[in-house]
Amino acid sequence: MIEEASAAEDSRVAARDDEEITVFSSPVRDFELDLGDGEEILSSFCEGNELSFNYIPDKVVAAINAGGSSILDTSFGIDFVDDRFFSGGDVLRTAEDIVDAQEPSLYRTARYGEVTYALDGLESGDYYVDIHFAEIIFTNGPPGMRIFDVYIQDEKVVSDLDVYGRVGSNRPLILLNVRAAVDGGVLTLAFRGVVGNPTISAICVHRAPPLAKRTGRKPRPIYELALENCQKQNARRLTFCEQMRDKSRGAVTESEQRLEELRNECHQAWISVQESNRQAEKLRDELSVKSLTVDTLANAVETQVLELRDLKEKEMNEKTKLKLAVSDAQRKVEELRILYSLLSKDARDCICSFPDPHGMVSAVQALVNEQKELKKRLLDESQERKFLYNKLIEMKGNVRVFCRCRPLNASEASASSVSLVEFDSARENELVIRAGTNPKKLYKFDRVFTPEDDQPEVFADTSPVVVSVLDGYNVCIFAYGQTGTGKTFTMEGIPGNRGVNYRTLEELFRLSTVRKGEVNYEIKVSVLEVYNEQIRDLLTTPSQAGLAPKRLEIKQDADGGHRVPGLVEAEVHSMTEVWEVLQSGSAARAVGSTNANEHSSRSHCMLCVKVRGENMTTGECTRSKLWLVDLAGSERVAKSDVQGDRLKEAQNINKSLSALGDVIHALTTKSNHVPYRNSKLTHLLQDSLGGESKTLMFVQISPTEADVGETLCSLNFASRVRGVEMGPAKKQLDSSEFFKYKQMAEKAKQDVKTKDDSVRRLEDSLRTTESKLKVKEQLCQSLAEKVKDRDKVAAELELQLATEKKARLAAEVALKEKRLKADREGSWDRADRANAEEALEAAFKTAASFHPKENSYRQPLQERALENELKPLSKDEKAPKVLGETVLCKTRTSIPKIQMVLLRFYASLHTQG
Ligand code: ADP
Ligand code: MG
Repeated sequence: MIEEASAAEDSRVAARDDEEITVFSSPVRDFELDLGDGEEILSSFCEGNELSFNYIPDKVVAAINAGGSSILDTSFGIDFVDDRFFSGGDVLRTAEDIVDAQEPSLYRTARYGEVTYALDGLESGDYYVDIHFAEIIFTNGPPGMRIFDVYIQDEKVVSDLDVYGRVGSNRPLILLNVRAAVDGGVLTLAFRGVVGNPTISAICVHRAPPLAKRTGRKPRPIYELALENCQKQNARRLTFCEQMRDKSRGAVTESEQRLEELRNECHQAWISVQESNRQAEKLRDELSVKSLTVDTLANAVETQVLELRDLKEKEMNEKTKLKLAVSDAQRKVEELRILYSLLSKDARDCICSFPDPHGMVSAVQALVNEQKELKKRLLDESQERKFLYNKLIEMKGNVRVFCRCRPLNASEASASSVSLVEFDSARENELVIRAGTNPKKLYKFDRVFTPEDDQPEVFADTSPVVVSVLDGYNVCIFAYGQTGTGKTFTMEGIPGNRGVNYRTLEELFRLSTVRKGEVNYEIKVSVLEVYNEQIRDLLTTPSQAGLAPKRLEIKQDADGGHRVPGLVEAEVHSMTEVWEVLQSGSAARAVGSTNANEHSSRSHCMLCVKVRGENMTTGECTRSKLWLVDLAGSERVAKSDVQGDRLKEAQNINKSLSALGDVIHALTTKSNHVPYRNSKLTHLLQDSLGGESKTLMFVQISPTEADVGETLCSLNFASRVRGVEMGPAKKQLDSSEFFKYKQMAEKAKQDVKTKDDSVRRLEDSLRTTESKLKVKEQLCQSLAEKVKDRDKVAAELELQLATEKKARLAAEVALKEKRLKADREGSWDRADRANAEEALEAAFKTAASFHPKENSYRQPLQERALENELKPLSKDEKAPKVLGETVLCKTRTSIPKIQMVLLRFYASLHTQG
């Protein structure tokens, strides 16, 4: 029925006094009981004070050690199993002695609280239940601290049980043989607190004999008897207690009276203490007020003392400072005096060394004029250089045609094709075409490039026209020829072997750097293509291009120039930027078509470079344009071969190339009408074809037999362009005349060089003169400053002199009056005269030492002047009037005059005497 709990021992946890731990899932509280010596220990209820009762239950079916683990083989003759069947409550434990207990360890643990035990698995029948209690919580309190009811099978079997009240603490109390009937296998025991919580130490259930027949009188259960015993005992104790209480009551009354008296005394004393406290408080307040006043006064005194000390110190400092200042001033005056005499000497020296300013001014003027003249000459020279250079190019022809033949390509070479073009007389700029059985044809151009001539050679002959652009002339360079003959190769080139476009811009930047300071250039680049007579800007951003391509039109400006409004012009400052622009142009061209190569051969790709030059010397501005055009393929397309778009393209290309030919033709024949507007291409190039502008055409040809038809067409077109330009009349120039021109050109070149040299020399001499002029100017300035200082000193001296003069005159008048008076009275004798002379001298001295500005007397000017000032000026010391030295001269001459007057006056006195 009851299983041995093997885990019981394991689950037991050693408890420490100050910790709360758990046992059987219940909180555990440990207690130390502290029972004083001689305290009355109340016995168990069983048999008076002695434990004469030997508890050995019979037929035990369940024995539980509440709140503890199993205790085997007890003196009760049974085994108590560990705590189980419970619900609710905590575990209490103590290590204290349990007195009068048959099995003390049973009572050292207890379940505490509103506890219910439900023992199941019991056979139906009658049972006795023994419940063991012990008050193991230290209370020391009165009885009644813990009172509870006991229920068995939901029937209250014990009311208001107070274990402490009955047996005291740490003593066992056993409720014996409480009968219970089990029907259904479960026996429930419940403990409900009335005051505080119940504590239960052990439960033992054993079989009970069936109840005897009803006698009509319910037998009293043993626990009632036990309770009665206890009550009797308590009654006895109560009586004893009451007797004791009566006895002590008298003593208490006495003590209370005494207490009352003492309290009264205390009260009186307290009142008087209160009073003296109040007075003390008042005095303290007064004291603090007084001490505050004293503090304030002390502070004020201290501040005043400090202020006084400060003032004294300041006064002392001031005094010392003043003393120092006075001595400093005296020293400075002395120094100034020395400085003054030195300066006087310097000034005299300076004046001597000062050259004639008139001469200097005229020299400077001459230099300035010379500089102006040089500038003018420089300008004229550069104008002449430009003019001569232009003439040189013009002599070569404003329209020049270069022919370039590409080499056989790899497939042609592998097919063992042979070149039909002969370059035997390429040095004479001639080439010959062998066209099958036809007679050989000879063509002559301004320059013929063989397949072996590479890009640098080609550009070497192109570069002179680039200089023209910087000189302010418009230039147009274009490549003409059948597709695949190297137009793009010549103009754009390939990576690592750049063509004319890149090299031209490179040369522009190089030259603009060389001329930096002389002329400032601003370069802008546009890239566009003309396809089917429509202009497309290749520098618009991709997004713009993706949306709707702008329709660009050509407009004429008020000044007659042509421009394309809305065309992007990228300002470039370096080749890196140029390269970026060219790349983005190429990229845009590729984007617009599915087959870039094919497309490019059917459109004209145009690079426009606008140059604005500002001459830093003259302020003159030039604007020029350079067109670099990669024309569409010139091949003729048989009309039967194509239809639709391709036909339209072919027609447009044909139209624009014919228009180009017509324009050049009209220009060179000096026709009244030049048909620029016949195509977009010529309309765009209008400014750069004709007039003073230079045109350079590359006619590109293929060397193979397959292309011979197109080659001849291209060569004929180019010959027409060149031939017309040279003009039949010009072509007829005999070689001697040509030689004459050549010599003229050579001479012009030489002239330019010599002039350049002389200009450079003139510039150098100008620079030297300018620097000399600067040095002289500085010298002038420092001299003028010194002279100014001298002026100041002279003015001061003159003022002092005037005062002296006045004083002397006054003294003279006084003396004269005195003498007249004495003469009238006839009392003027020798002694009088001596006295008068003395008095006059004293008066002079005093008057002379008075300084009107300083308002004090000092060393008379007369003396000072004689010491160091009034050395007569030499003839050549006379300063020129222009520098304002007149005042000084006057001063120098007036002092000796006064001396003379005085001497004359003395002499007269003597003679009169
Ligand atoms: P086009 O622009 O006239 O259609 P390309 O410039 O595209 O002709 O030239 C066609 C091919 O011939 C290219 O592969 C190019 O590199 C090559 N080529 C043209 N001229 C030369 C040359 N002088 N030297 C070497 N290769 C050349
Ligand atoms: Mg091409």
